[in-house]
This record gives sequence, C-alpha cells and structure tokens, in this order.
Amino acid sequence: MKVKHIEHIGIAVKSLEESIPYYENVLGLKCYAIEEVKEQKVKTAFFMVGETKIELLESTDPEGPIGSFIEKKGEGVHHIAFAVEDLQSALHEAEEKSIRLIDKQARKGAEGLNIAFLHPKSTGGVLTEFCEKQKLIK
Ligand code: ZN
Repeated sequence: MKVKHIEHIGIAVKSLEESIPYYENVLGLKCYAIEEVKEQKVKTAFFMVGETKIELLESTDPEGPIGSFIEKKGEGVHHIAFAVEDLQSALHEAEEKSIRLIDKQARKGAEGLNIAFLHPKSTGGVLTEFCEKQKLIK
C-alpha cells in the first residue's frame, strides 16, 4: 500500500470548548472547522499543523465510541490516521497480512473523507485509521 502522510491525529476530549484554548492560545493554532459526525456520535474540531491535522473528538453520547474510550482511559490520544492512496486496496492488503479490521468497507468520516479503522489488537495498541478523499471511492 502507499501511505502518503499522517492525515490527522485524533484526540479524545471531554469538551471541545475547554480544550480548544490550549491549541489556540498556547500552540498558536487556529481551529478552522467544527463538525458533527452523527454516525460516530462525535463533534470534531480541526487544526492544521503542516500537512497534518489535529482532530479533537468530543462525544455526543456516553455510549458512543469516544464516550466509552474516555470512560475507560480518560482524555488523550485516541487514534492516528494515515492518508492512503487507495483505501479499499489498503484494507485488502492489511487483511491479507493478518491485520484485524474494524471496518472491512470504507465509511464516511468528517471532512468529506472515506475512512476505515484497523483494530488496535493487531497494530501494537494504536487504533489506526486509513483515509482518502471521498471522490476516489467507486
Ligand atoms: Zn480520525
């Protein structure tokens, strides 16, 4: 597969409102978008750092994936997302190499990206996301 760059780092936070000031006032980044992704029960806030984004994730439902992550582990780094050239074939390749997939098919993420997750049990404990721009999906 061809991994192009780190697309974003996902960070679970209890509250976007309380977390954004650190990124803006201390790191001097600018929050350029806030978006709700209903399917994943999260509200996201984005910052650009070079080619890579920081994606803050606030749960909109305690039963959702971010809600239960924070419940178990507290706030902190949640996942790393790699931009790949061809998401579906990257998934096939990972599966062929015995990586457990959370998503066998790409699904919709924030910012018009198609995304899919690999299981942290087969990636050394790092929840890993692959993503690509939506228009590339057939
Ligand atoms: Zn992500």
